[in-house]
Amino acid sequence: MVVQDTSEILERILEQVRSVDPVNTRKWFDELTPVSFDGGLLQVGCSDPSWAQYLHERCLSAFTQAAQSITGHLVGVQFVVTGTQHSPTDAVAVQPQVRLHPDYTFDSFVVGPCNRLAHASCIAVSQNPGVIYNPLFLYGNVGLGKTHLLHAVCHDAQKRAPYLRIEFHSCEQFVNGFISAIEQGNLSEFQNQYRNVDILIIDDIQFLREREQSQEEFFHTFNALYNNRKQIVLTADSAPQDLAALEDRLISRFKWGLVARLDPPSYETRIAIVKKKAHLRSLTLPDNVAELIAEQIKTNIRELEGALTVIYATARAAGQPITLELAKQALGVQEVAAGRSIAMSDIVRTVSEQYDVRITDLQSKKRSQSIALPRQVCMYLARNLTRHSLEEIGGHLGGRDHSTVVHACSKIEQLYKSDAAFRDRVDKLTGWIMKNNG
Ligand code: ADP
Ligand code: MG
Repeated sequence: MVVQDTSEILERILEQVRSVDPVNTRKWFDELTPVSFDGGLLQVGCSDPSWAQYLHERCLSAFTQAAQSITGHLVGVQFVVTGTQHSPTDAVAVQPQVRLHPDYTFDSFVVGPCNRLAHASCIAVSQNPGVIYNPLFLYGNVGLGKTHLLHAVCHDAQKRAPYLRIEFHSCEQFVNGFISAIEQGNLSEFQNQYRNVDILIIDDIQFLREREQSQEEFFHTFNALYNNRKQIVLTADSAPQDLAALEDRLISRFKWGLVARLDPPSYETRIAIVKKKAHLRSLTLPDNVAELIAEQIKTNIRELEGALTVIYATARAAGQPITLELAKQALGVQEVAAGRSIAMSDIVRTVSEQYDVRITDLQSKKRSQSIALPRQVCMYLARNLTRHSLEEIGGHLGGRDHSTVVHACSKIEQLYKSDAAFRDRVDKLTGWIMKNNG
């Protein structure tokens, strides 16, 4: 059946995307609107620029495939920003000033004793930039929500005062931008970008260590902003006084405002986080499954999410609802992986069968794409499912060195994130390899 009505087309696309790509599905997909369907291009409207960015980066291929299968035509999909500032007719293709993750808002952040001060100070800063805590310095181990809070500050400040100029960068972006500004002789442009703002946010400032010239530049940026009462927000993996590799004058400035530490969440907070993450994806998660995840994973919140993803990928592959039994099995699967009971030969055999290439080709020096890709998939799976070292993995696949394996893993990881069909294939491969070892 060919569907004509644009609203109906969008509705059916969403239905299909939800079923083929649940990992990337979000509750707010309900709020997407059809803008136009003309000349083979379907425009989908988003009221929040970060939604459009997210959809463009993560879901374009799932939407396009669904649009094509539903309309029966070669249809392109474009995500455009609509909403209060724009009427649907002057919808603009997304080009945000700051790239924000739509999941990382204050609403989706669970507050507990571990992060109460950090959370409260971020809210204060987004309501009154440059006034109360300047600079605001957040620190804590990896995966405790620092970057999430920074995004939330941007979302919130932008919503309250859309005219604010916000620059939000990783420390690496700052350093790299500085280096290329020197190389290209446009330092003043660089300085303008960082000094002519209302809020400057730099994530993971510890990366300034051993970068003397960048530290010097950041010192002057800091002073310029501070003297003009512009807000500065910084994060790091340790407290200012422990950032020993940084100049003292920077460290002392980091302590001028408020320093807030993030600690690992308690069991109760972990349960609340897991539930929040499930809710964001419109997933129904039984209480006992949330408790199981919170018991298993204690320190890094990113891993809580990973566990949730494993559980529902398993449920989906098995075509079953999420139950405690299934969740145990899925997390048990991780234990099996950690126990190294999966052999390289299982991976190579399964990939060779599924991609229809010979094992000897996978282990050869041949570099044609039809062989190189499945070989890289083998490396990626071996990295995730076994405890073999990079050298051992490379050795099994034609005597390649460890940097080749690193490159392969990051390439496949990118593809896995951006291409729904590819992700599906890799999930299935993982499922088969696991099953044969279960
Ligand atoms: P960090 O920058 O400290 O390494 P992130 O901000 O990247 O950590 O957080 C890692 C993951 O954990 C993100 O997906 C984030 O949404 C999630 N997370 C961390 N803390 C919380 C929290 N309190 N509530 C909800 N999600 C959280
Ligand atoms: Mg971070």
